[in-house]
Amino acid sequence: MKIVLLGTSSAVPTLTRGLSSTALVREGDVFLFDCGEGTQLQLMRSSVKRSRIHSIFIGHLHGDHLYGIAGLISTLHLDAREAPLNVFGPEGLRAFLNASFRTSDLQFTFKLTVREFPRGYRGRVLDEEEYYVDALPLDHSIFCLGWRFQEKDKPGIFNLETAEKLRIPRGPLYGKLQHGEEITLDDGRVITPDMVLGEARTGKSVAYCLDTQFSERTIQLADKCTALIHETTFGPDSISLARERKHSTMEDAARVAREAGVENLIATHFSSRYDGRQVTQIADEARNVFEKITVGRDLLEVEI
Ligand SMILES: [Zn+2]
Ligand SMILES: [Zn+2]
Repeated sequence: MKIVLLGTSSAVPTLTRGLSSTALVREGDVFLFDCGEGTQLQLMRSSVKRSRIHSIFIGHLHGDHLYGIAGLISTLHLDAREAPLNVFGPEGLRAFLNASFRTSDLQFTFKLTVREFPRGYRGRVLDEEEYYVDALPLDHSIFCLGWRFQEKDKPGIFNLETAEKLRIPRGPLYGKLQHGEEITLDDGRVITPDMVLGEARTGKSVAYCLDTQFSERTIQLADKCTALIHETTFGPDSISLARERKHSTMEDAARVAREAGVENLIATHFSSRYDGRQVTQIADEARNVFEKITVGRDLLEVEI
């Protein structure tokens, strides 16, 4: 999987940072988290193909995470897209989209499904054969959902040579073993899956937590994930401002990363008061709490 940061600024764009949006690319499919104004342009500057967007997840309805979605969907319509599109987000999202599209008299070329969640919602919002997405409320000034994209574990690779050595007849028995079932051969021998399968492949996971102040729920959502994308709006100079506006400092995010036992923290959503050098300094200090911090910047790609 690949994470592509499209916009890393909070509240307002700057000349070097766009508004919040992050793409997760998995086997060609694109999952877009938030869609601030300017996301379309950032997509064009990046390696991410807008035609491959599978679903869009909007965590909360603050403008810096939302105002790009109507424009992007309008462009998908002009592209004569045919594939259906899913949009997930808090209650109010559908009304926002409907108002935009009705105003412009936009009739879609494709099926748009908007799924809304009421305040406090937690649960599985998408469940596919190879992955699922869970949502959990964060702790922000308005209702805000965090998301966890989780690949399902895959059984180990079937070892053909071992199977032949064990004289297991080719055919449906192979399939049974691959699916974790134990089999009994005609000669009475019992073969268990671990005798022919390599080690199980653990699915990777990405937690996306924007916007929120430090919260136990975030730790829960991010539990042992491969990458935690967390807002880090402020530095140590603005702790009271972070508390007042229900945002996080870089150190808050580092604490979440440490307590959740994640592999990597990707910091994003920086206040426009900091330039790139200052953000790097803030991250250096937060490494006392959690070492593995990747400082986000627009168009940065992180392979996981
Ligand atoms: Zn924000
Ligand atoms: Zn916000």
